[in-house]
Amino acid sequence: MARGRQAEGVDVPASEMKKWFDSNYHFVVPELDNNTAFKLNYNKPLEEFNEAKAAGIATRPVVLGPITYLALAKASKEAEAGFEPISLLSKLLPVYKQLLTELKSAGAEWVQIDEPILVMDKGADFEDKFASAYAELSPAAPKIMLTTYYGRLDSNLKFVAKLPVAGIHIDLDRGAEQLDATVSAVTSGSYVLSLGVVSGRSIWKTDFAAAIKAAEKAISAVGQDRVIIATSSTLLHIPVTLASENKLTAEQKDWFSFAYEKASEVATIAAVASGSQDAQVAAALEANRSSIAKRRAFEKNSDDSIRKRVASITPEQYERKSPFSTRREAQKKLNLPKFPTTTIGSFPQTKEIRQARAKLTKGEISEAEYDKFIEKEIENAVRFQERIGLDLLVHGEPERNDMVQYFGERLDGFVFTQNGWVQSYGSRYVRPPIVVSDVSRKGPITVRWSKYAQSLTSKPMKGMLTGPVTILNWSFPRADIPRALQAQQLALALRDEVCDLEAAGIAAIQVDEPAVREGLPLRRADWDPYLKWATSTFKLATAGVRDETQTHSHFCYSDFDDIFPSIQALDADVISIEASKSDMKLLNTFKRYGYSNQIGPGVYDVHSPRVPPQPEISQKMKDMLDILDQQLFFVNPDCGLKTRGWKETEASLINLVEAAKWARQQY
Ligand code: GLN
Ligand code: ZN
Repeated sequence: MARGRQAEGVDVPASEMKKWFDSNYHFVVPELDNNTAFKLNYNKPLEEFNEAKAAGIATRPVVLGPITYLALAKASKEAEAGFEPISLLSKLLPVYKQLLTELKSAGAEWVQIDEPILVMDKGADFEDKFASAYAELSPAAPKIMLTTYYGRLDSNLKFVAKLPVAGIHIDLDRGAEQLDATVSAVTSGSYVLSLGVVSGRSIWKTDFAAAIKAAEKAISAVGQDRVIIATSSTLLHIPVTLASENKLTAEQKDWFSFAYEKASEVATIAAVASGSQDAQVAAALEANRSSIAKRRAFEKNSDDSIRKRVASITPEQYERKSPFSTRREAQKKLNLPKFPTTTIGSFPQTKEIRQARAKLTKGEISEAEYDKFIEKEIENAVRFQERIGLDLLVHGEPERNDMVQYFGERLDGFVFTQNGWVQSYGSRYVRPPIVVSDVSRKGPITVRWSKYAQSLTSKPMKGMLTGPVTILNWSFPRADIPRALQAQQLALALRDEVCDLEAAGIAAIQVDEPAVREGLPLRRADWDPYLKWATSTFKLATAGVRDETQTHSHFCYSDFDDIFPSIQALDADVISIEASKSDMKLLNTFKRYGYSNQIGPGVYDVHSPRVPPQPEISQKMKDMLDILDQQLFFVNPDCGLKTRGWKETEASLINLVEAAKWARQQY
């Protein structure tokens, strides 16, 4: 389901993947309809519970709640019109009941049921479903810790605090302000209150003083026996441990706390809150106080020149010189045909590329040898694109370990871990950079590679950068200044890079912003300020160029319906989106709003090795062209060619070029 399959006469596309809430972790979207039959094939939580029990450890199994599961699912292609996955709740509950009964008979005292949908506005739609579902599950289950995270319950608290469960967990990292309301909502009952005081989303050390204060407040209202200290959410989103980091300075290491360290923070906070007089606990408390104070002192040492530059940004810097129609005329000098073909930037990151990078890191090859190797890769990519007949070329990004890390490493203000891998999906992990101080550009970052690529061909070369919002969203941000300010600093650094690319003769420049959507706050009430800084920083990064320079932007997995005006406001000359798997809803949104700039809806899916036959791509284009203006249509695949092999990349892109030729004849 996650990868698709094309073998032995079977040809099935992969299922859609979506970002999990506002994180960079993905899930495979379940596809349901009235014929769906749920069945417990395998009770993994039970097996793991038993395994831990055999090792002498009593654990609290964790399961995703039925309402959140259905809320995140989608109707299958076969579903009747108007079908809503939540309508399957009564069919799903018996399976949950069976799973929970099995856990209970195996001796589980507690079970954690995650219902993060409760921190979204949408959670309110399910009030009745929550009531009936938990009334049905509770009698069969171990004590239920109903767990919410990534945000605040807000008005959903009203019904959550009436559910027949034994405990409620709240996220006090993302929703510190919900402490008082939650405490008063549960005081008269018997709920256990689990306080997520240690952030599962940030790598900064927990300020014990603040966490203990929250714990004490809850304890004084409901008593020690009814309070649990916890991490705010899963620790999946942060690296495993600081212990294996040897390159961070002692000063830097003292600022952070990864998953193992967070777990021990939980233990210390709990010990202090329960009145421990232990000397070790007292020492840990004192050490924390001193670390937090040192970090605060460091934060005061800001880089004045960067702050001053941010403060003197003028309104004109956010806008291109002319409107799109004028720019479009000027950009005719790129000589692109109708239905121009291009790709999203990367080409396969082969074993050889990764090996060369590893050798460079280990000092087995010199910088010069590595650069030569990268030039060769770029040349191969350029020759390949010329050979198959693509129109707007890319250099292929072979020099990049990762689209965010690569930029972070070339900017001041970031630090890096050696082993801080965080799961992105399936077997893919990323190593997010950490923003620790004011950000600025040390010097040109990509110019040399784009310039080299352009020197090899007479076709136009598209420069390729990662945008400010994405760099920030896929890094661990600072906690001491607003994200908006960090994004502005990044935008100014990228603006210089964009202008340098233009000066080096690069006529098209793409600034990827795939993370804009996932960075959207979970509560609608918080959207506007975010969208305002997200769009304006993108514009700040890109608007410094002349009319004839074509700006591109790219978004993945995007569901833009509700934020469309912000996408439009970016005013990129061309935007590419991942559309191959997301039916035509997305494109209809573009049409509905009368989107006037150019658009490249991905015409085939890149997340699986499956090669789309040319007629299939043509058909996809035909469906898309029923909705979109043919004069504004770019032909490109979805993103992610770096994760593919050359074999399928080549075969698929040849089919894509053929499909574009077909379209030029048809339209
Ligand atoms: N330019 C990047 C690439 O092609 C974009 C990746 C992304 O959108 N996630 O890899
Ligand atoms: Zn993408």
